[in-house]
Amino acid sequence: MVIKLLQQYFDEDRVLYGDKLKERYYHIWEMNNSLKAKAVILPTKTADLSVALRICNDHKQKIVIHGGLTNLVGSTETEGDEVVISLEKMNQIEEVDVKSRTMTVQSGVILENIQKIASQNDLLFPLNFGAKGSAQIGGIISTNAGGLRVFKYGMTRHLVLGLEVVLADGTILSTLKKIIKDNSAYDLKQLFIGSEGTLGIITKAVIKLVEAPKSRNSAFVAIDTYNKVVDFLKYMDSGLAGTLSGFELIWKETYRRMTSPPALAKPPLKHGSNYYVLLESLGSNQEEDKARMQALLLDAFQEEMILDAALADTQSDLQWFWKIREDVRVVTSQCNHDQHFDISLPIAKIGETIDTIISELYNIPEVELVVAFGHVADGNIHLVVGKSKQTPELIHQINTVVYYPLQELGGSISAEHGIGLHKKPYLHLSRTDAEISLMKTLKRTLDPNNILNRGKIFDL
Ligand SMILES: Cc1cc2nc3c(=O)[nH]c(=O)nc-3n(C[C@H](O)[C@H](O)[C@H](O)COP(=O)(O)OP(=O)(O)OC[C@H]3O[C@@H](n4cnc5c(N)ncnc54)[C@H](O)[C@@H]3O)c2cc1C
Repeated sequence: MVIKLLQQYFDEDRVLYGDKLKERYYHIWEMNNSLKAKAVILPTKTADLSVALRICNDHKQKIVIHGGLTNLVGSTETEGDEVVISLEKMNQIEEVDVKSRTMTVQSGVILENIQKIASQNDLLFPLNFGAKGSAQIGGIISTNAGGLRVFKYGMTRHLVLGLEVVLADGTILSTLKKIIKDNSAYDLKQLFIGSEGTLGIITKAVIKLVEAPKSRNSAFVAIDTYNKVVDFLKYMDSGLAGTLSGFELIWKETYRRMTSPPALAKPPLKHGSNYYVLLESLGSNQEEDKARMQALLLDAFQEEMILDAALADTQSDLQWFWKIREDVRVVTSQCNHDQHFDISLPIAKIGETIDTIISELYNIPEVELVVAFGHVADGNIHLVVGKSKQTPELIHQINTVVYYPLQELGGSISAEHGIGLHKKPYLHLSRTDAEISLMKTLKRTLDPNNILNRGKIFDL
């Protein structure tokens, strides 16, 4: 019935079902598994999406929203009785306003394209992470993605000025303004940022751009204790006078695997140190900024804060260094039945807590490999656990080891990836009963028939 109604409104190539679903999938890493769904709708404009939602809502039809399909929490998985709405055809950059330093984009625009267009206008969209070639701005906003430069520029939330959203009943809500300050009552767009498509479908966004830096410098640094990593962070942040933009920590075994065959990258520093930091500074004068970083590294070495350092000398060094960190597939593909974590906790507690978690994980006989790396300056660490089998009991046992210590430490089970299906049973470890209850009230108010991404984040 619903499909028939949708077919009456949409062209044939905008409502896919039956055999046409064989070439569709629910995640970029699951391209060989055909999508289970009633149909896939491909709207090209907001008004069409509004009609599709009205039809689905009238018939209490469950919907799963698909963006670039790069999330790491199972949030785009589907059941056979669900309709998928994919934003891939709403992929136009509508405006670059150089003077206001904003870009107005449809939600299906891929992050890398936004970065390119910003750069062609001598501006920067600072959000950056490994999945930039596939992740769409709508999915990125819905997950409030973080990435490699949060320390300097903030999470996605800090880079969104306005949104256009279609609510479950088809209502179009627009907050598409280019202004930074707007305290005229509730900031409604924030409801849709990070709510993983459970409260509405984002169709457009006004995003904030910043001046493009004139210099970019990076270095790999080896350090022997976690306390020194924290000292080094403070030292570089103050020494680089506001230009520190990235401070990525890689644990010993992870670095070895990122820079040894089958990985193609060579190690910028020799293996064997306990920690490796990849630094980035974005500034205004290439030679002066490089000299300043070099001098700071030399001092840090003489003060015995660091063991060794390699400063990127050329553009190709920069690419080489960042490819090591961004190409996490190199290590995750070495983890059988890979289980991903993106936790956050106070920076001072990271070293000891992660060491304890890693050793407890290795006490589980089925655990084969644990890799650790993360955006340590944001208190955000990623763990990937490889194991010999995949059972719900084992997954829960591993989750318990990683998630339960976080509650007492005031940490979070999700620093940036969201909750989706994978972390749903553990939400109470990061949020109080009162918070979860208010979240459910919001969901019931905005989506009374519970059609949007039903069962993701929590059950009603
Ligand atoms: C190699 C790799 C590296 C990554 N690194 C990082 C990282 O450093 N930091 C980080 O934060 N994340 C990272 N991620 C996770 C992922 O890239 C982000 O979660 C991304 O923001 C998801 O965007 P997407 O378009 O792929 O969304 P999808 O995966 O398609 O969807 C994500 C969620 O948003 C919903 N959704 C999608 N589009 C819309 C829309 N228009 N309106 C409403 N809801 C929508 C979906 O239903 C789903 O709930 C990484 C992923 C990979 C594969």
